[in-house]
Amino acid sequence: MKSRLTFRGLIFFLFIGTLIPLLVVVGLLVYRLQQAYLLDVAQRYLINFVQAGVEQFSADSDLTLLAVSLSESFRVIGADLFVLNAAGNPVPPSLGTGPWLEIADHQAVQASRQSIMQMIGAGDSARLVYLTTIVDQNRDVLGTVEASLPMANINDQLNALRRWLLLIITLASGLSILLAVVLSGIITRPISSLVASVDLVRQGNLETRAPVSEVRELGQLAITYNQMLDRISLELQQRARLAENMRRFAANASHELRSPLSVFRSSVELLDKAFHQDDHRRLPEILAILRKEVDTMTGLVENLLLLARLDQSGESVDAILHPEVIDPVPLLEEVYERSRLLARGQEVELEWPKGEIGPIWADRDMLRRALNNLVENAVTYTPAGKKITLRLENRNGSIAFVIEDQGIGIPPDQLPKIFERFYRGDESRSRRVSGSGLGLAIVEAVVRAHDGEIQVESVPEQGTCFRLSFKQMDAPGQT
Ligand code: ADP
Repeated sequence: MKSRLTFRGLIFFLFIGTLIPLLVVVGLLVYRLQQAYLLDVAQRYLINFVQAGVEQFSADSDLTLLAVSLSESFRVIGADLFVLNAAGNPVPPSLGTGPWLEIADHQAVQASRQSIMQMIGAGDSARLVYLTTIVDQNRDVLGTVEASLPMANINDQLNALRRWLLLIITLASGLSILLAVVLSGIITRPISSLVASVDLVRQGNLETRAPVSEVRELGQLAITYNQMLDRISLELQQRARLAENMRRFAANASHELRSPLSVFRSSVELLDKAFHQDDHRRLPEILAILRKEVDTMTGLVENLLLLARLDQSGESVDAILHPEVIDPVPLLEEVYERSRLLARGQEVELEWPKGEIGPIWADRDMLRRALNNLVENAVTYTPAGKKITLRLENRNGSIAFVIEDQGIGIPPDQLPKIFERFYRGDESRSRRVSGSGLGLAIVEAVVRAHDGEIQVESVPEQGTCFRLSFKQMDAPGQT
């Protein structure tokens, strides 16, 4: 189900839903605090003035003096004031139109010798009334004082505060809505870009990458996502390359097999004809051709099988090959002896290594085969009279077999391709017409299966040097 609420909308409502109620609560709190404060000030005002007057006159029993003194003070602040004697009769002068409390309240206060603070009325006609007892030095009740303040003044202040708070809350709410729009945009932009990128990937575009946000977590998410895409693209590219290689390999292999097979077929037809015509003179020639083509095909199939075996990547050398401890010197001597037999006028040299040459852990047949392939190429591509050198090198704990010739060399643009399967250089440059183009591919596969390294340097018309390096064993029996 497709959700209607966007992430941006969610952030917006969360922001607004938190901020505006918070503003209202803060406004209410400020209002209530100010209200309590103003009431407290008014109460203290009444209490302090009345108590000061009463304490001053407590030595005197003439309430008129008290009434005069208090009414002078209270007139200034616009309060009402009434002094009543013990019998409940007003003692002039008084202020205002009260008393606001009942005579019964006055009598009750006299009886309890307590004070009361009371709010009477509501709205603008509300008054804060303070009623207290007047006692003389003997603690005899002389009367009561009732002082009251109209609340209109305080209400005016509170109304002004309310209006200000409303204005501030409205402005702050508007500002927070604006802020929520901007912030939700900033927060969700990287996510939107990520979603857009994911959408492109879904449509098959693996080139897309998410922009890296400044926000750390979102930035990290984008980096991880981009790295993941890099890996997937690389994997897919490798797979595509592998599939293409397989396709080319199959096409090349069938192409290579086609020509010996067609020669084979023509030879069989010739054989058939010779039999029917009872012409036995040509039989040895035809059989020789057949044998040669069978040898070619067998060699090709063997090479292909060998490559397939060496291609079992991920397997250890021990699983694919039959490695053993090999002393490189006698092995190279063996290859040297064979190369002297192959040579056609070239001068073949074996250079004895300087220093100690330790053993290596390798498949003897495979290594011999790789070295023979290199020597065969050297013989093929080196003119008579030029030199082919075989030598061993011991560098940084690795043993290198070096086959160097003074042949026609390899053009720089062909160098990266020579290890490709079925790759053959320009045959017009060499005397050789046949050659499957699998020789160096096998050399490369053998070296790779041994975790070794292969290097080639070549200068056209000057010569080529192949160097196969393998890790030297530290001690006998150790790989
Ligand atoms: P091929 O069967 O053609 O020899 P290889 O895989 O052995 O196949 O070699 C691939 C190509 O590399 C050759 O066709 C040739 O052009 C080039 N090559 C290999 N070795 C040498 C060399 N020693 N000198 C010059 N060119 C060489």
